[in-house]
Amino acid sequence: MFKKGSRHSIDARIRMSRAQKGNKNRWQGGRITLNNGYIAIRIDGKYVLEHRHVMEKHLGRPLKKYEQVHHINEDRTDNRIENLLLLSSTQHNRRHRRLLSRDSTGKFRQKTH
Ligand SMILES: [Zn+2]
Repeated sequence: MFKKGSRHSIDARIRMSRAQKGNKNRWQGGRITLNNGYIAIRIDGKYVLEHRHVMEKHLGRPLKKYEQVHHINEDRTDNRIENLLLLSSTQHNRRHRRLLSRDSTGKFRQKTH
């Protein structure tokens, strides 16, 4: 990864490791980041979406087709149960429509309804 003989400051190393995190489909020991930003993990030889898997474990049952798992902080790689919210697809779409109304700085716009 590092060029032979080249020296990197700590700052440069941090910058490089940050850049690597942005790489798609990088192997992370059976854990892959999909192009859509979600994490897939290997269970019994096949890939499942990690956030759905975490929610199913939490509930102790498989998710229904219409049930979707939302990332509260919008980080699709943050699949801690505290960050996951079980919603119906209708509720989920509604929530994302609201998220889309953020301004260019990423702040939520104040809505009056
Ligand atoms: Zn969502």
